[in-house]
Amino acid sequence: MEMTSAFTLNVRLDNVAVVSMDVPGEKMNTLKAEFATQVRAILKQIRENKALRGVVFISAKPDNFIAGADINMIGHCRSAQEAETLARQGQQIMSEINALPIPVIAAIHGACLGGGLEMALACHHRICTDDAKTVLGLPEVQLGLLPGSGGTQRLPRLVGVSTALDMILTGKQLRAKQALKAGLVDEVVPHSILLEAAVELAKQDRSAHRELPVRERILAGPLGRALLFRMVRKQTEQKTQGNYPATDRILEVIETGLAQGSSSGYDAEARAFGELAMTSESKALRNIFFASTEVKKDPGSDVQPGSLESVGILGGGLMGGGIAYVTACKGGVPVRIKDINTNGINHALKYTWDQLETKVRRRHIKAGERDKQLALISGSTDYRGFSHRDLVIEAVFEDLLLKQRMVEEVEQNCAPHTIFASNTSSLPIGDIAAKALRPEQVIGMHFFSPVEKMPLVEVIPHATTSAQTIATTVKLAKKQGKTPIVVSDKAGFYVNRILAPYINEAIRLLTEGERVEHIDAALVKFGFPVGPIQLLDEVGIDTGTKIIPVLEAAYGARFSAPANVVASILNDDRKGRKNGRGFYLYGAKGRKSKKRVDPAIYTLIGVQGQTRLSAQQIAERCVMLMLNEAARCFDEQVIRSARDGDIGAVFGIGFPPFLGGPFRYMDSLGAGEVVATLQRLSAQYGDRFTPCEPLLQMAQRGERFWR
Ligand code: NAD
Repeated sequence: MEMTSAFTLNVRLDNVAVVSMDVPGEKMNTLKAEFATQVRAILKQIRENKALRGVVFISAKPDNFIAGADINMIGHCRSAQEAETLARQGQQIMSEINALPIPVIAAIHGACLGGGLEMALACHHRICTDDAKTVLGLPEVQLGLLPGSGGTQRLPRLVGVSTALDMILTGKQLRAKQALKAGLVDEVVPHSILLEAAVELAKQDRSAHRELPVRERILAGPLGRALLFRMVRKQTEQKTQGNYPATDRILEVIETGLAQGSSSGYDAEARAFGELAMTSESKALRNIFFASTEVKKDPGSDVQPGSLESVGILGGGLMGGGIAYVTACKGGVPVRIKDINTNGINHALKYTWDQLETKVRRRHIKAGERDKQLALISGSTDYRGFSHRDLVIEAVFEDLLLKQRMVEEVEQNCAPHTIFASNTSSLPIGDIAAKALRPEQVIGMHFFSPVEKMPLVEVIPHATTSAQTIATTVKLAKKQGKTPIVVSDKAGFYVNRILAPYINEAIRLLTEGERVEHIDAALVKFGFPVGPIQLLDEVGIDTGTKIIPVLEAAYGARFSAPANVVASILNDDRKGRKNGRGFYLYGAKGRKSKKRVDPAIYTLIGVQGQTRLSAQQIAERCVMLMLNEAARCFDEQVIRSARDGDIGAVFGIGFPPFLGGPFRYMDSLGAGEVVATLQRLSAQYGDRFTPCEPLLQMAQRGERFWR
């Protein structure tokens, strides 16, 4: 059976060839190895038609040019050699496109990423549309790889080495205007005239030569380049802490190409690609990518969700404000806020205004769009406008009686079908629903702060929550741009439950006399975005420690923190960044002044602040407790799968993505090794390290969490 080709060639009357790209049966165009033959056939036709004046590559999809190469291809490679060959094949096709004797134009609309941008780079000119959907970037580094189809060589030559390093090392995406400014595209036009403008460009046969900006020209010389590479290497090392081998290879490959010429560069690129594809880091990052794609597709229940035409929010504070913003501006769902006073309403409106204003300032949206989105949010101090809300999220103070009263008020003032979702961080959803007339419509929806930045939401059905309530809540979380995991209604749910012992251990290390900076640096070195003590400062020491007694009551002594220490810090009015008083010193505006620890902390705790343990010993103590607790959550089915547990930890806490999440990490160590380490620690530091029963059993049977 012949496959419909993803590439169709049309020769126009004006003798410009248009290659339309449309991978059959897929929403996105992604490059697959088998397309090579199809592209070659088309290139051959183009070469043979001597009447042709130019070629335009354009996508037939509504919102993507080419979103990247199919990542599964890499998973199928069994050796570095195979992956290297894959890269060389990609390079070869791109070179053939580049070698066409007539002008070749990439007409870009929507996502032009990874292999897609490499193909556009192989074209002689690029033109893109001016709307928000159009983004250009090389995100391979985020999967522990580098662009393997010539991207590391063509991009620096086109936009200059400093811009190219920035794009390839971070995977950042440029919008149309940024791409134009960087010289990545030649022209930006409205979508309606994209094809015609590209055809015109093809006919003009402009020389591809373009002057680089002055800064890039200075850095292009051998001296400037050496300086730039030294600086970027240092910055990158600081960011990755040596945990991400891809960045080193990217620097090496780009430098090789610039110093020794393209052909050495391509060679180095293919070899590095092959080797990186086999690293445990790249495998873990690709697994996280696949897992998060799966979670995003997971409807949460097998029942159809109910409608979500409008949402209500109770409480316009820190969380309510953030939730209102993501619901209206990301989800496009009208929001009505109720607070007990107008301050709360104003706070929520200002929250959204500030977010949108920043976007206007950065020219991501126009003022008109800001006003349109802002108009989706309204508020009042009573229940006017609530009667038809499909779902109401409460984000009032953390108080059981108050939350139960909210359920009652919603039942009185909203529709019979209205779902009640609580954003509680520590109260059992079952208790909140205890007096509900329709407990099947009560559910937990646990956001993380700051709401607009944190990608995770825990969706928490209690014993009698209906399947439809789950489905509707999961649907709302996705509309809000979040990745929802469904977790069970046990104290701490999942994320806070595994986070608490980790934070507690950091506090304990502090009371043993370790220095704050040393503890934080140890966990950053391990791969967390910030250390546990700084995290506590960021989320608020008061908020962050509130959950501890709840967990201790539910699960016992393994959750006990050095209570007197926490109390003495709180009694000294230290809430962290939000009141400018925490473990670290804050400048006048609550900004951290170079992350210096407040020496008063040591006096408060009654220790000196010394370095006794190695970074590795510190990280081990904090992380092993988190792993032990994660294993318990798995066994108790607090999470539905190892997949959800890994996504929850990476997206909710910033568990090092290159380790793949706590469950992938434990699988890679082996349950036996995890148990042995916990036993060693428990002999030295006490019972909290005793390996849990499920881990012991897994070790005995040689089982894994991922199947
Ligand atoms: P907040 O104090 O900033 O806001 C609470 C708001 O609720 C205030 O504006 C208050 O006026 C309003 N309110 C109080 N009673 C009300 C009533 N009867 N009707 C309507 N509005 C009322 O608190 P927050 O930090 O936004 O926390 C809200 C909830 O979210 C709490 O349950 C908290 O545990 C939970 N939570 C907080 C975080 C966090 O990091 N702050 C994270 C996850 C969940």
